[in-house]
Amino acid sequence: MPEIAGRAAGIALVAGGATAHAAIVARSLGVPMVCGLGEAILDVDPEAVVLLDGEQGEVVLDPPASSIARAKTMMQTGGKADIRDQAERELPSITRDGRMVTVLVNAASVEEIQLALSYGAAGVGLVRTELAFLHAPHWPDAAAHRAAVAPLLAALGDRPAVVRVLDLGADKSPPFVAPAVGRGLELLLAERRGFEQQLRGLLPLGADHDLRLMLPLVAGSDQMREARALIDDVVAELGCAPVPIGAMVETPAATADAAGLAAESAFLSIGTNDLTATTLGEDRFGGSVGPSHHPEVLRGIAATVAAARTARIRVEVCGEAASTPLMTPLLVGIGVDELSVGAARVGTVRRWIRAMDHGELADLAQRALALDTAEEVAALIENTQLDLSEG
Ligand code: PEP
Ligand code: MG
Repeated sequence: MPEIAGRAAGIALVAGGATAHAAIVARSLGVPMVCGLGEAILDVDPEAVVLLDGEQGEVVLDPPASSIARAKTMMQTGGKADIRDQAERELPSITRDGRMVTVLVNAASVEEIQLALSYGAAGVGLVRTELAFLHAPHWPDAAAHRAAVAPLLAALGDRPAVVRVLDLGADKSPPFVAPAVGRGLELLLAERRGFEQQLRGLLPLGADHDLRLMLPLVAGSDQMREARALIDDVVAELGCAPVPIGAMVETPAATADAAGLAAESAFLSIGTNDLTATTLGEDRFGGSVGPSHHPEVLRGIAATVAAARTARIRVEVCGEAASTPLMTPLLVGIGVDELSVGAARVGTVRRWIRAMDHGELADLAQRALALDTAEEVAALIENTQLDLSEG
């Protein structure tokens, strides 16, 4: 997928949804993509002129000259914003009233890290390690894991890197994963030998880098304890220094146990892609995308942030919601410490944060948390004058 996205001007897909992993990679590289167009898109004449609008999720065949002109202007405006965001990469991501919100990048390649650093990313908030092994015939060994991650850490210098251990299952099921063994940490604990290989490959990298490990789809504090015991065993076996271990909060069960999870973790990371789908009972991989600004999802996020505060640990958001004009202000208002976003979004989100007032957004978030529907939350944000333009 990164190879295709690296060469394409735009991507139109028959199926899929906006938070499926193909869409995440395309967005990260700044390549417009529209999903769920149905089989008819395959019949389009290869010579046809097609206008593909990733923002609106629209594909227009043989567009009129006026639409082409408008699209070109939008592309130029986006290009100018990019240049300005790169020139402003040294500016700190601090709100007008002085609250620092660290902006990190979700990256699985050196190219994404370089792009993100050009916009001033403070480090990596999510490495999806499984993306390197989607076509591997066997569980990767320690050397393969080390070879996949070491170049990313080298590209970061002394900046921090949150490396997530394999989040396999669902739309990331390589041939070596038996069907129906769950997803995320549950799957890794069922396949301990494969998990230990990854730990043996990654943990020694902590000697030369600011490496932190993160566990995906953690069910609750008991499972977190079990995983940490296993990690401690590998640390002892290797004789290397321990690294901070964080938990991803991605289900209502995890948000309900946020205090327990925070007590077992060096940091928390909220995966809003899964949290939205699991809270609203939707199939993220089948194309349906629930709104992350649904009050039920927001309340799960707020409970997690409150638990992290009490435990005095940091909390980041690394789902796609971290970089949307509706959700970024709400997340800042709820009080997350860090936002980890696709490489192409880093400059935009850093610019948005500098235009925000944290106190104002904290009030706004409290009002949103008390609402009943996603539509009411959207109306609340849209009726508030926030200066969050794309360009
Ligand atoms: C998430 O669920 O929000 C997340 C960041 O993890 P992934 O998209 O890889 O499931
Ligand atoms: Mg997830």
